Amino acid sequence: MKPATKFIHAGAHPDPSTGAIMTPIYQTSTFVQAAPGDHKGFEYARSQNPTRKALEEAFAIIENGKFGLAFSSGVAATDAVIKLLAPGDEVICANDMYGGTYRLFTKVFEKFGIKFTYVDTTIAANVAAAISPATKMVWLETPTNPLMNITDIEAIAAITKPKNLILVVDNTFASPYLQNPLDLGADIVMHSATKYLGGHSDVIQGCLMMNDPALREQLYFIQKSCGAVPGPMDCFLVLRGIKTLGVRMKQHCENGKIIAHWLAKHPKVGKVYWPGFESNIGYEIAKKQMKDFGGMISFELKDDSVEAARKVLSSTHVFSLAESLGGVESLINHPASMTHASIPREERIKNGLSDSLIRLSVGIEDAEDLIEDLAKAIG
Ligand SMILES: *Cc1c(COP(=O)(O)O)cnc(C)c1O
Repeated sequence: MKPATKFIHAGAHPDPSTGAIMTPIYQTSTFVQAAPGDHKGFEYARSQNPTRKALEEAFAIIENGKFGLAFSSGVAATDAVIKLLAPGDEVICANDMYGGTYRLFTKVFEKFGIKFTYVDTTIAANVAAAISPATKMVWLETPTNPLMNITDIEAIAAITKPKNLILVVDNTFASPYLQNPLDLGADIVMHSATKYLGGHSDVIQGCLMMNDPALREQLYFIQKSCGAVPGPMDCFLVLRGIKTLGVRMKQHCENGKIIAHWLAKHPKVGKVYWPGFESNIGYEIAKKQMKDFGGMISFELKDDSVEAARKVLSSTHVFSLAESLGGVESLINHPASMTHASIPREERIKNGLSDSLIRLSVGIEDAEDLIEDLAKAIG
């Protein structure tokens, strides 16, 4: 089945009791049993809920996986993955991951004796070189936030497979429309469903997709034991969001391309980060593993100052100044003072996050309105 059809029909079965075409919101904590142990597959809603079950089936299908699991947030999904490990185990991860992932690893899990090694994963040899006898997992994110660095998932899988390391890919930025890491050799795909999957900036949720039944069993055990499950209303919202993922992503990509090229020609704009430019280092890999280049764009101003960036950020009207991404509406954000403010300036600059860097999550409005808005704001 082609993606757009798959996104609409994934996990959708008419409700057995009424024939309702949309999976109902099963707002219940428990399920009545006919006799002890005689139930319809649902005992208690932390362990199973019919709305969540439909969504988890959809999650599996949209990533070409066998299994899907839903969590109460993206970081809760990440938390479940790291709980597969034990003290002494090591994880190799990208050195420019999502800030919340980095915080969870360094501030929460390090004190339980799990070690995290940060490398530039865009060079696969760095990952191979960092492997020690204690390494159990490799954690990737591609494209990254906000510099859109691209890691070759197949090349990393070629390193992790022979060593039986678990390869995890945070696929939030690409969405399953653009990239399917399980097909490229990943063992677990993680998403913040808050972003493109939900797509309407109205829900916080996370998910994991996988093929290996043993991994699914372990992660399901963690899901029900630790309890970071989403409620049925949130599951319903994400199920609904996924239906339009195909049309939304097509429009995000189309608008992203128009705006990236427009920015690149603007006299006051410096470097533009967008995976679709042939001049970008990761272009060939992006072209190989992604279907299109998405609607996430970052750019610098020629006047590389916080003040110049702030002026742009407070002058847009269609782009809203906010963190997050992947919704139908366009957002604008300033990594230096918002998402990456906790990184000391020197380190931030060293990592390529300049003072004037501005990140756009291009929505699905009319591109002409978005350009007019940016033109006025940049001046
Ligand atoms: C937002 C985000 C997360 C965290 O997800 P939440 O739903 O906010 O918990 C993880 N990874 C990436 C790339 C994200 O953008």
